[in-house]
Amino acid sequence: MKIAIDPGHGGKDTGALGPTGLTEASVALAISQYLADKLVALGLIVRLTRDSDVFIELGARCGIANIWAADYFVSVHLNCDGSTATGIETLYKTDKGKALATPIQREMVEATGDQNRGLKYRNDLYVLNGTNMPACLAETGFISNPDFEAKFRTDDYRKLLASAMATGIAQYLDLAPAPPVPPEPVPPISFNCPKCGRKTTISIS
Ligand SMILES: [Zn+2]
Repeated sequence: MKIAIDPGHGGKDTGALGPTGLTEASVALAISQYLADKLVALGLIVRLTRDSDVFIELGARCGIANIWAADYFVSVHLNCDGSTATGIETLYKTDKGKALATPIQREMVEATGDQNRGLKYRNDLYVLNGTNMPACLAETGFISNPDFEAKFRTDDYRKLLASAMATGIAQYLDLAPAPPVPPEPVPPISFNCPKCGRKTTISIS
């Protein structure tokens, strides 16, 4: 299963700016890299449309996913609309994109406690129009809100969102959760009985 992860913006295109100058492009990249790590750990094959602070045309992002023949495409963005806006929304165009978006949106809202702005149909977004596979675009929160800009600065919040998105994708793909690690077996203990001198072995299970 191949998943293309598309960190929004980059290079000369910083995307939205937070009140103290944090860029959407930098946060989208960090979340996407954490997300890629999580998906690889689930056994998926992952390709990022960019893995550094470079400018990639929207058409090239779609081309990367289409030529690579990704099975799914997930674009990662942050929203911008004044200092009091809050919430997470996930955008889709097709029914299959909506099915992919649904658990991603639910898990992000549940993990962060941010407002649920819901799933939104959009037929005007380049990456949703230009990709051949089920696709969605996650708006992971408002960088224009100072409280959320502060959260987005932290690795903890970036990882929280990435984990939630990975959980949503795993649910969509019906992947079994990673098997629990069995406890280390405790080796039997042998000793000579201090009273009779006989060798005694105890196994703890
Ligand atoms: Zn954006």
